[in-house]
Amino acid sequence: MSSLHLVRASVPTPKVTLRHRLLDFVGRGPFLLMHLACLGVFFVPVTWTALAMCVAFYVIRMFGITAGYHRYFSHRAYKTSRIFQFILGFIGASALQKGPLWWASHHRHHHRHSDSELDPHSPVANSVWWSHVGWVLSRKYHAYDADSIKDFMKYPELRLLNFFHVVPGILLAVLCYWLDGASGLFWGFFVSTVLLYHGTFLVNSVCHIFGKKRYVTGDESRNNAVVAILTLGEGWHNNHHCYQSSANQGFFWWEVDLSYYTLKTLSAFGIVWGLRKPPLAKLPLLGQAKSDATPAAVSEPVVEAATEVVPQEVVKS
Ligand SMILES: [Zn+2]
Ligand SMILES: [Zn+2]
Repeated sequence: MSSLHLVRASVPTPKVTLRHRLLDFVGRGPFLLMHLACLGVFFVPVTWTALAMCVAFYVIRMFGITAGYHRYFSHRAYKTSRIFQFILGFIGASALQKGPLWWASHHRHHHRHSDSELDPHSPVANSVWWSHVGWVLSRKYHAYDADSIKDFMKYPELRLLNFFHVVPGILLAVLCYWLDGASGLFWGFFVSTVLLYHGTFLVNSVCHIFGKKRYVTGDESRNNAVVAILTLGEGWHNNHHCYQSSANQGFFWWEVDLSYYTLKTLSAFGIVWGLRKPPLAKLPLLGQAKSDATPAAVSEPVVEAATEVVPQEVVKS
């Protein structure tokens, strides 16, 4: 699975020169300007429409990231049509967290090397700041390993979306302005997008530091209820690290997982299908006898499921 892309993504950052600093600044510019633009809310009227757009576009795009970029493109946790696959990618891209191929490739890398030196965003192997935003801003991860996402690389429309990944976000900004003028633009687009950035990033930072571990996973992944609420279910991160290809990350009824409820609803209409479920009885609970509780007991098929084209087991639910 090695490739030139992976080598480029894994080597240490070269010696920092003035040119590198300039490139870094240009690369970080849009991200920093998005934050700066939020100050605009102090100069425009606060309207109910704008606030509703802020919440709605946060929730819709969080679904694009969690159910689309994460559970579908990264883990193939369910199946869908080619058209809805593109729609998921388009909604995810409107969150301005780069393209679906870039996102899923780095995420698969995260699972293969969780909390080791090779993990792109571990708060354990690196700093909390690095895991939250540092790695996103670093030129080190601008490239991605095309080999690790070749199951989706074969779709030209996804490659195009991945290349023009800022277009859906720009269209959303125009829509916000059209719907409610400057108030719509600042609340519905800028504030909503920045909240979405940090909501998503909490999974990489907080969910590898704070929370409870239920399963043996060989890393520091945690279940965090607050993050689960903010991210439509992604906070059940220890569950997820234990059985990555599950469509639901909340494994029990009290583990709220709004992305999964939405996927279940979509499956009732035939829009998605083949939602995969975790084999709960087989998962290695912490505190079990060592022979029963090795991460290897589940990690191998899970990693396979996350990287191979054909899932090993599909449970229709
Ligand atoms: Zn993780
Ligand atoms: Zn994952």
